[in-house]
Parts: sequence; structure tokens; C-alpha cells
Amino acid sequence: MDTQTNQPVVLTIAGFDPSGGAGILADIKTFAAFGCYGLAAVTSLTFQNTQRVAGALNQTAEITLQQLEPLFADFEISAIKTGMLPTAEIIRKVASIIRANSIPVVVVDPVLQSTSGFGLMDDRALDSLTSDLFPLASVVTPNIQEARRISGVDIKDQGQMEAAAEAIRKTGAQAVLITGGDTATSLAMDLLLDSQGAAVFSTERIRSKHTHGTGCTFASALACLLARGRSLRDSVPIAKEYIARAIAEAPEVGRGMGPLNHFPPGFRFDPGDD
Ligand code: ADP
Repeated sequence: MDTQTNQPVVLTIAGFDPSGGAGILADIKTFAAFGCYGLAAVTSLTFQNTQRVAGALNQTAEITLQQLEPLFADFEISAIKTGMLPTAEIIRKVASIIRANSIPVVVVDPVLQSTSGFGLMDDRALDSLTSDLFPLASVVTPNIQEARRISGVDIKDQGQMEAAAEAIRKTGAQAVLITGGDTATSLAMDLLLDSQGAAVFSTERIRSKHTHGTGCTFASALACLLARGRSLRDSVPIAKEYIARAIAEAPEVGRGMGPLNHFPPGFRFDPGDD
């Protein structure tokens, strides 16, 4: 916590999207929207715009650690949000630095491939993500495609969504939240599984092509709310309302799937609510 401004310090460990819609730029904007002070370590320099991902230059585990160590030495970090972790070596270093420091909140957003199908992590990295990092997670936030690949459960209905969440929770994650942003239904339905059981959170789906970075933004909002001491079950509806406004009030920049408005006038987070 920054004691002068009363802002929790939140760290994102993720990829860099130069178009600003996803990755650490989206995360940092979201942290600011929720009154948190943001830190960031870059795991991969991606080459993308709103239309496609053209490539990625992954950082080494050593370079990732060199970014992280000074931050852990200096700041009292209230929450960590992870996004694109492209290699098993990076994941193992991230897991060991989280284990060595007691971080109250760890939100793990698995980033396996871009919407356009560009692979952002290999199978070896996926094994390490589930065995080394998931056990440290307060919550893991895969979308349906990611949950399908991680759990091996074919998700076609709510029952299968719950079965996939159960399989993923067996890795040791405290909670699993499968997000349903990419389905063709009229509701944006997410399923949470934690120690209390399953819960469904639905909001009206906003019809828009400007949904670049919804997963990163949603996981970052959760990290901030949890850092502020909210429970996961209280945080999910607030994060979903924020996403809905951020899509509805998107700036309409770029020729493809545009970014969100991370400071939508229709949504205001009042830190005084804590
Ligand atoms: P990802 O980017 O990883 O695929 P999702 O889009 O599934 O992530 O989910 C992130 C959050 O945004 C979830 O809470 C989801 O329900 C919500 N969401 C995604 N698209 C929409 C939409 N068009 N309208 C309202 N909420 C949405």
C-alpha cells in the first residue's frame, strides 16, 4: 500500500501490446481506473494492432527476473496479476519469486493464444503454468477456449463449464472463474468455482466488435478489487459492470477489433466504498 495516497500497489507480469488494447498497457490503465498504483514487468514484446498479432519476441527468464527483483525489493505489493507467460522457464521464475514473497492476492489469467489464433505459449509452458503457478493462485481466469484446453473437458453447456472448472481447481488454485465472453449467447455468462461451490454471474452481452483485451482488463479489475479487500464474489459483478461500460463506451480507434475505454464515463469506482 502506498501510505500517502492509500493506493494498493498492484503488479502485472504480462506481454506488451503496442496497440494498447491488451497486455500491460491495458492492465495499467485498469489499475488506475480502480485507484491502484501499477507496476509492470514485460514477458514478451508482441507485434500487433487491432487486426492481428504478427509476432512476439519473448523475454528470457533471466530478463524477467531482473525486472521483478528490484520491484519486490522496493514495494509492498498487494496483488499480482499475470497474463502472457510464454515459456516454462519464465513461469518457474515467476512462481518462485511469488513463493519467496508473501503476496496476498495472485490473479492468474492464462493467455494461450490470440483471438486470431496466434500461439502465445507452448505446451511445455502450459504444463508449468498448471503445475507451478495455479497452486499459488487466488483465482485463475480462463475463457472457455482456454478452459477447454487446460481441462480437456469439451464445454458446450453450463454443466460442462462446471466440470471444467472442477478439473482446473484440482491443480490447487483457490478459485476458478471461466469467462464466457466469446460465446454467441445474449448473456455474457461467467462461472465461478471456489470453496463455497459454483456461482454464475451474467450480464447482458454488449454487441460490439471492440472487445480487444477484455480478458486482461477483467483480470486486472479483479486483482485491484481483491487488493482492496473485497471478496471474490463481491468483486466479480463490479468487474463485469466495468467491462460492460468499457465496451459500450469504446473509443472506436483502429480498423479491427478495437480496444476498450478503460475510463468509461458511465462507470466510476469510488475507493471510498472500501
Ligand atoms: P478473454 O478476453 O480472455 O476471452 P472474456 O471476453 O471471455 O475474456 O471475458 C472477460 C470478461 O468480459 C467476462 O466477465 C465476460 O463475461 C465479459 N465480456 C466479454 N465480452 C463481453 C460483452 N460483449 N458484453 C459484456 N461482457 C463481456
